Amino acid sequence: MITRTPGATLRVERLPAFTDNYIWLIHDDTDAIVVDPGDAAVTIAALTRYGVKLRAILVTHHHPDHTGGVLALKARTGATVYAPAAEAGRIAGIDHAVTDGESLAFTAPALVGVQVLAVPGHTLGHVAYHDPANGWLFCGDTLFSGGCGRLFEGTAAQMYASLQRLAALPGDTQVYCAHEYTVANLRFAHALEPENPRVGAALANAEAQRSRGAATVPSTIQAERAINPFLRCDAATPTAAIEIFAARRRQKDAFTA
Ligand code: ZN
Ligand code: FE
Repeated sequence: MITRTPGATLRVERLPAFTDNYIWLIHDDTDAIVVDPGDAAVTIAALTRYGVKLRAILVTHHHPDHTGGVLALKARTGATVYAPAAEAGRIAGIDHAVTDGESLAFTAPALVGVQVLAVPGHTLGHVAYHDPANGWLFCGDTLFSGGCGRLFEGTAAQMYASLQRLAALPGDTQVYCAHEYTVANLRFAHALEPENPRVGAALANAEAQRSRGAATVPSTIQAERAINPFLRCDAATPTAAIEIFAARRRQKDAFTA
């Protein structure tokens, strides 16, 4: 919760959807922006609960658990739909196709301004939305707490570069990822680095939170640099780091614990 001017308090609300998705709702008690509304009903219930008008819809990538509610929400609210230009053919209802490096400034809710970061790997057109002033990162299925998205479309080299780009953001950036995968991710991280006390503590903490039904996200970039094995592929050369990343990603795909 960030108060910038008297009377205008910006909040980011977590809306659980499906089995493990999070839809993120940014609002100032009057106007709202939603990120990756896979489920329209969940989003509409939240708009009613907070008494806010939906102004914009930000989409990170084309998968249905991130886009399923877009058309219904647009029809109901008239919100402007922002989605990656590279996936425009696979996302219905786009008003504004976004590209890497673009800045979006919103007037309602005021004082929200995001920069578009191309982060290919999970899908080829995947983007993240970074609000540097508020310290927020909406990263879809690219970076998760303790893990990263599967490589459905891109290469290991692309995903590694995308994650390095996110890891370079300020440490106190809040990481609003789109899934509650933290416990499974940290079990894998712990198996890889059993002696890393930060990973062990993060796993114990995440398990405790989940056992009482609490969410483990948002995380922070600083925390992810310490515990996320996909950000910790240090090697003598970039090529060697990508090879470590690719091997870990394949291991994680096959990991059950
Ligand atoms: Zn996805
Ligand atoms: Fe997803």
